[in-house]
Amino acid sequence: MKKAAKWLLCINLLAWTLLAVQVLTVNMEQRVAQNTVPVQNGDVQAKGEDADAVKKKVALTFDDGPDPDYTEMLLDGLKKRNVKATFFLLGKQAEAYPDIVKRMHKEGHMIGNHSYDHVNLANLSKTDAAKQIRMTSEAIHKITGEYPQYLRPPFGNEPPECSCAKNMMTVLWDVDPLDWCCGSSSTVIEKVVKAVEEDDIILLHDASESSVEAALGIIDALEKQGYEFVTVDEVIFE
Ligand SMILES: [Zn+2]
Repeated sequence: MKKAAKWLLCINLLAWTLLAVQVLTVNMEQRVAQNTVPVQNGDVQAKGEDADAVKKKVALTFDDGPDPDYTEMLLDGLKKRNVKATFFLLGKQAEAYPDIVKRMHKEGHMIGNHSYDHVNLANLSKTDAAKQIRMTSEAIHKITGEYPQYLRPPFGNEPPECSCAKNMMTVLWDVDPLDWCCGSSSTVIEKVVKAVEEDDIILLHDASESSVEAALGIIDALEKQGYEFVTVDEVIFE
């Protein structure tokens, strides 16, 4: 082979080698960008997996509001922690404090129906139960522009079968620390932290300072345990 031809062959080989290295590098960069870099043992590990995959969902719910003294205190605490909750409102309270309901809705919380007067719907006639539910849904719709899709009947007692709740889903609860009646906020926090499991719905009330303190304390304690707070639809339809 002539000297010039040998040189050409060498340059050609060098060019192919450089091209091959470049292709391998690009391939690796793409895989890194897609968060799937093979680790040494052959498994595929996702970037950020430790942050998201282990989160357990749990839903905080608040009944009987809005309360003129304590609901906004709770909304401030939820906002600070970037947590969304579900509020089951009384129709008469919603009518009395529409600005608080507006704020709840604007800040991304879910709003449900808890009857108009906090009555035991199971003891009412179909007509009266229907009126309790309809008046509350209308009150919420007037303020937020949306009809609630979820009903939490007071005391957990479902209404007699009536067309009023036909398009609504009844939502009860898994954990009830009785925050409205007994114990300090630390007792309530302790009860919830002890009892809670993944996808549970926790029942609280936004009607006293100790309940608000308990709610925020529960968030802080459970977030440290890898829980993430969501609205009830997210644990029901998971
Ligand atoms: Zn209630």
